[in-house]
Amino acid sequence: MVSINPDKCTSCYTCVRICPVKAISVNIKNPQPEIQPERCIGCGDCIKMCVPGAIYYRSGIEQAKQLLATKAKKVAIVSPSISAEFDDITDYRKFVQMIKSLNIDHVNEVSFAVDILAYKYLSLFGDFKGRYYITSCDPVVVSFVEKYHPNLVNNLTPFVPPMIAMSKIVHKKYGDDIKVIYIGPDIASKDVALKFSGSSKVDVVLTFPELRQLFKEMHIEENNVEFSEFDPPLGYKGSLYPIRNGFIQAADIDENLLTSMVISVEGKKEMLESIDEFEDNVKVIHRHLHVTYGNSLAGPGITDKGNQLFKEHLVIKYANKRLMNFYRAEWYHNLQEYITIDYNRQFEPNNQRLPDPPVAKVAEALKTLNWKPGRHSDCGQCGYASCRDFAIDMAKGIVIPEMCATFAISNSKYYSDTLKELNEKLTETRKALKETEDKVESEHNAATQALELTDAMLEKLRAGIVIVDYKLKIIKSNSTFCTILGGDAEEINEVIPGLAGADLNKLFTEDICNLFDYVLKNSESIDGRDVRHGESLLNISIFPIRENQVAGGIIRDMRAPEVQRAEVTRRVSEVIDKNLEMVQKIGFLLGESAADIEKMLNSVIQIYNEKK
Ligand code: SF4
Ligand code: SF4
Repeated sequence: MVSINPDKCTSCYTCVRICPVKAISVNIKNPQPEIQPERCIGCGDCIKMCVPGAIYYRSGIEQAKQLLATKAKKVAIVSPSISAEFDDITDYRKFVQMIKSLNIDHVNEVSFAVDILAYKYLSLFGDFKGRYYITSCDPVVVSFVEKYHPNLVNNLTPFVPPMIAMSKIVHKKYGDDIKVIYIGPDIASKDVALKFSGSSKVDVVLTFPELRQLFKEMHIEENNVEFSEFDPPLGYKGSLYPIRNGFIQAADIDENLLTSMVISVEGKKEMLESIDEFEDNVKVIHRHLHVTYGNSLAGPGITDKGNQLFKEHLVIKYANKRLMNFYRAEWYHNLQEYITIDYNRQFEPNNQRLPDPPVAKVAEALKTLNWKPGRHSDCGQCGYASCRDFAIDMAKGIVIPEMCATFAISNSKYYSDTLKELNEKLTETRKALKETEDKVESEHNAATQALELTDAMLEKLRAGIVIVDYKLKIIKSNSTFCTILGGDAEEINEVIPGLAGADLNKLFTEDICNLFDYVLKNSESIDGRDVRHGESLLNISIFPIRENQVAGGIIRDMRAPEVQRAEVTRRVSEVIDKNLEMVQKIGFLLGESAADIEKMLNSVIQIYNEKK
C-alpha cells in the first residue's frame, strides 16, 4: 500500500520512529528504511511525516481513468469527509455535478451506509450476550487488531465497513454489472477494497488529492457545471461520521458517561493504548470500545492536514445543510429496504507480532549502545519509551544503533578521535613515503648511471656480447655482436638498440643456440669453444648469469685482424710455454739418467778394483 522512493529518501529515520507498529525497518546492510507490507496497518503517518516526500501510497488514478473511459455504468460513492476537503467548493451540488462530469452515472453518499451500520451496531450492543466489542468501521483499527491483537478478532463488531456496505447498497439498487468508485480520505481502504468481490466489490479507491488531480486533468471546475443532487438513498446523521463521536451520534447510542455501554476514543496513541488495555482488562471494563485512528479529517488522503476544529465545523455545517432537505419518511423507507442486505463479515487473525528476542541479545544490544544507567536517560528521541525498548527492537533486527542520539553523538566523538589519530598516522606515513621516494629516486639514478656506464663499456669491447633469457630472446647485445652477425642485424640494431627481444634462433646456427640452451639448462659455463658460423669461425664463451633464466655470451670473430693477431700471439705463447715445459721435463729426465749411469759405472769400477 505504501512504498519508499529511495532516490528521495534522506535516511532521516523519522518514518521508522513514527510508525506505530514498527512496520518500517532498517538494518546494517541497508541503512535506507524498508517497509514491511505485511506488518503495515495503512495509517499513513509515515507519509505525513516524511519531509522529502519519499513515501507514497498506491495511486488509483490510472485505474480510474481506464474505468471512466468504458461504457459500463459507473457509480461514485462518496465519504461525508468530502465536506472538509472541498471547502473551496461553495455548494455541494456543484461538487456532485463535477464528479458526474468525470463520466460517472450516479453519485451516492456513504453516509446512508453509516446510518444502516449505526442501526446494526445499536442492535448488537443492545443484545451483546456478554461479549464486549471493538467497533470495526475504521480499517486501520481492524488491521491493527488482526495483526497485533489476534486474540481479539472475535471482539471486532462483525460488520463490513461503510465503504463496502455502500457498495452492497448501490449494487442492489443499480445491478450487479455496475462499476463502483469510492472517494474517501483514508488509504487503508485501498487494501480493504481488494478483499471484497461480487456485490461488495469496489473497483477503484480514490483519495481526495487523487480526485482533485482528475478534476484538473479533465478541466472540470465549479464554474463550468450546474447543480446536481446526490442520488438516493440519502443519508441522515451518517454525514457526521467523520467527526469525533459522529458514529455514536448517528447510532443514537447513549453517550451519558454514567450509563453508556460504549467508551469512545480517537487518535493514534489512544487507539494503541485502549486496545492494549481492552485486551488486558476486558473482563473488568465491561464496555464496548468505539475506536478510530482519526484519519477521516487528517489522514494522508486529505489535502490539508491541519485545522482539525475548522474541518469538524465544515462537516457539521454540511450535515446541517443536508438535513434541510431531509425527508424522514423517505429515509426510513430506504432504511427498511436496504437493511435486509447481509452486512456481516468475519475477521481472520494475521499475527505479525515479532517474538521477544533472547535476554542475551538484548543485553548485547544495550552493550553496543554503551548503555549505562544515568548516561542514557530514556530520552525518547528514538521514538521508543525507553532505551530497553529500543534495544529489544535492535535485537529483533528492525532498528540500528545509529538511531539512538546518544550513541550517534558519542560515536561521532569516537569517530573524530579516530579520524585525528588516522590523520597523524597519515602524516607520518606520507613523510616516510617521501623519504622512501627520495631514496628510490637516488638509487634509480645511480642504477641508470651504472647502466649507462656498462652500456658504454660493452660498446667499447672488441668482442661481441649478448645476453639472452631462457627462451633465447635477446635482452641486450653490443654493436660488435651485431657486426659479427652482419647483414640485417646492424640495420635492426639502429631501430631496436641492442636487438632487444630478437630471437637468437633466427640469428645463429642451431649448434650455437644449443650451446646457449645447454648453459641455461645446466648452469654450467662453456669456455672458448670454436664454432663455425657460415663463413666465419667464432670463438664463443657462454656463462650463466641467473640460474636457468639468463645467460651471457662473449663471441669473437676469429677472422678479425686484431683477434687473429691476439689469438696467434696467445696461441704461439701457449705453444712456446708448452715446449719449454717439455724441454724442462726432457732435461730433467736426461739429468736424472746421467746420474744413474754415473752411479752404475762407479759401482762397476768399485767391484772391479775389489776383484783385482
Ligand atoms: S522519513 Fe522519508 S526521508 Fe526520512 S527515512 Fe523515512 S522515507 Fe527516508
Ligand atoms: S502506513 Fe502506518 S503502519 Fe504503514 S508503514 Fe506507514 S506508519 Fe507504518
